[in-house]
Amino acid sequence: MNGGRNKETGFLEYDRLTGLYGKEKFFEQVKERILQDGRPFAFIRIDLDRFRLYNTFFGTGEGDNLLIYLAEKIKEYAGIFEDAVVGRMESDIFGICCRYDENCISELRDKLIAALKIYNDTYYIEPSIGVYVIEDKNLTIEEMYARASLAGESCKNKFMVNVGYYNDGMTDKLLVEQELMNEAQKALDEEQFTVYLQPKTNIHTEEPYGAEALVRWKHPDKGLVSPGKFIPVFESNGFIGRLDYYMWEHTCRLLRRWMDEGLEPAPVSVNVSRANMYNPNLVDTLTDLVNKYQLPAKMLQLELTESSFMDDQEMMIHKVKQLQEVGFTVLMDDFGSGYSSLNTLKDIPVDILKIDMKFLGTGVGNGRSERILASVVRMAAWLDLTVIVEGVETKEQRNFLESIGCEYAQGYYYARPMPWQEYENILRHPGIYQREREESTKKLTLLERVWSENPEMERIFGTLVRPAAIYQYTGSEITLLQVNGEFNLDFGYGASAERQFENNSQYVPDDYTTKIRGAFAKCMRKRKTAHCDYMRMEENGENKWYRMKLQYLAQEDEKAIFLALFYDISQEKELEREISKYRRKMQRNDRNRLKMLLVDDDQMTRILAKEFFKEQFKVIEAENGKEALEILQKEYETISVILLDMNMPVMGGAEFLKNKNASKDYSDIPVVIISADDNPFTQIEMLKNGVNDFVTKPLIPEIVECRVQNVIEYNSRFQGLIREYRKKK
Ligand code: C2E
Ligand code: CA
Ligand code: CA
Repeated sequence: MNGGRNKETGFLEYDRLTGLYGKEKFFEQVKERILQDGRPFAFIRIDLDRFRLYNTFFGTGEGDNLLIYLAEKIKEYAGIFEDAVVGRMESDIFGICCRYDENCISELRDKLIAALKIYNDTYYIEPSIGVYVIEDKNLTIEEMYARASLAGESCKNKFMVNVGYYNDGMTDKLLVEQELMNEAQKALDEEQFTVYLQPKTNIHTEEPYGAEALVRWKHPDKGLVSPGKFIPVFESNGFIGRLDYYMWEHTCRLLRRWMDEGLEPAPVSVNVSRANMYNPNLVDTLTDLVNKYQLPAKMLQLELTESSFMDDQEMMIHKVKQLQEVGFTVLMDDFGSGYSSLNTLKDIPVDILKIDMKFLGTGVGNGRSERILASVVRMAAWLDLTVIVEGVETKEQRNFLESIGCEYAQGYYYARPMPWQEYENILRHPGIYQREREESTKKLTLLERVWSENPEMERIFGTLVRPAAIYQYTGSEITLLQVNGEFNLDFGYGASAERQFENNSQYVPDDYTTKIRGAFAKCMRKRKTAHCDYMRMEENGENKWYRMKLQYLAQEDEKAIFLALFYDISQEKELEREISKYRRKMQRNDRNRLKMLLVDDDQMTRILAKEFFKEQFKVIEAENGKEALEILQKEYETISVILLDMNMPVMGGAEFLKNKNASKDYSDIPVVIISADDNPFTQIEMLKNGVNDFVTKPLIPEIVECRVQNVIEYNSRFQGLIREYRKKK
């Protein structure tokens, strides 16, 4: 094999292991090649799914053998393309640049899959092939490579999907991430990140014991952003290191502050991201930090996610030992999410095992998960490991955990992550944690009955993608019983959400609290549904509009419980404001009101609609299509809009429309249908037939007005454009 160096740049021209071109030389070759004219070239990037694991299972020597084999195959198969050049970028990543040919790429895929299957039939290795068809020759080779990488990522670890082609949407995703990154450093400097704490609880005593620190981003525009939205981005580009440090430091500060106050806090755990495990200064950095705040190292517990251990187990074992020597307690987070088995546990010297209920299916009620969990707990006891189960949401789960001898739990059943101030409050008044729990268990009884009668509903409640809550109402008092995840995201945890409907609440102005209470009263009386719109003042000073829909669920003595769904209607309200501005303008401009032709055989509807519109329109009535056509013939020049029923005697709406649309004189007068039918197919049919919009019965004045206004406005602009166009001609 040739290990020669380029004389000028000093880089290795050939890769030592495989004999292929090294990255620099490969890029150089690509550059020369694509300058040729003719049919386009493709940049193909090949790597293996789960190659790291392969190394872990079979050792790096065997890993190298696989790479040599793969290199040979890639070189051989590249022969099916014209003008191909092959190189190795790094570890398991290879590149081909060649004339673009889709069929050849499929062939390459099939051949590679087959070759890998032959090589090792016990361990399933699949390639990911990312293709960038070089359209823009002005890009640097690095940029082309980046595009092929994006394309490859799109099929990474997806079973049976091995080829991904680059498209511009992929860069858009990158741009969104870029935007996030641009804001990140500023957010760090301005301390927009804040510490939320989720208590851990001793299952036997029901007392809190320590907490986990979880980051929240108090974004100036987006409100409270949860880590799922930004951590993956920060992880992929290394910023996570800085965020981790920020969280550790803020947690240390809190611990110091509490100890200074004499509060005797229990240890708090922080998350250490996977990327940080490669930080050679990790141990020193953490040690310096606890020294700086004069904390015993055991106060700061470290959560390392299970997947970190799979990359390089030896390195991890070494790091964990070093950390333990300084006095840190090490937790293995998300145990069960990845590949680690109970067997590997005996080699890894962690102190605490953290298992997420979600890794065990439904958790309770499923025999298999129960047995797995029970055996993990037993095994952990042999190994002298403490177990903490997170994601505990129900009393059944809690009881089950107690029955198998599990000691600690963390989850919504006990408490949600809360702003650190609230956790501090618990430290100050240790009684309140249990008291709140007892109260909420008492509160839950009726709800528990509902849930057990409708298990499906409980499941849906938890997975709803809009804010949802369960309220209890006594005729005077509104109490929040349970919320879903989206609710927390929109309204935050604690006071801001719990007290929003109280009189003199700082969140919802009194006028609206009264309205809301009215809706609760109505819903209780009717035992059905009720809704109301209200304004809410957010903690960032913004005002938001919500529509709350209440659904009666059950009643016991004087207590009723309701399901509430929340719809953010801020934009609608904004639109409404704009429309009413426009309407006022129109009223001012046009003293001789506009005319509306109202065609409906139902006298009640006519009276109602006339009432709605008496301010803005002179309403001309017709009882059926025939009458309406006669009126149109005489007055079409002054009629601005037609409100039309479909089902009428003599001549129905459909026939009227046909006649109306056939006439040059009035085909362009906009029509809004009054429909008794909210079947989408009928509505689509109507829209296709040139109807501008529709309203459904029962008529809601605001909606009818908005829709009528909208079609008139649109139509007049439209007409204006047509007139201008005609003038030009
Ligand atoms: P994780 O470390 O596994 O944290 C537990 C997650 O489960 C948290 O989500 C927590 O709010 C949620 N959780 C707790 N109890 C329950 C429950 O009963 N039911 C359900 N469905 N969920 C529950 P969160 O705060 O959104 O954080 C998500 C992940 O983001 C964390 O998972 C962690 O991997 C990462 N993360 C959060 N904060 C930090 C941080 O400061 N640094 C780093 N590196 N990662 C963080
Ligand atoms: Ca964690
Ligand atoms: Ca976890």
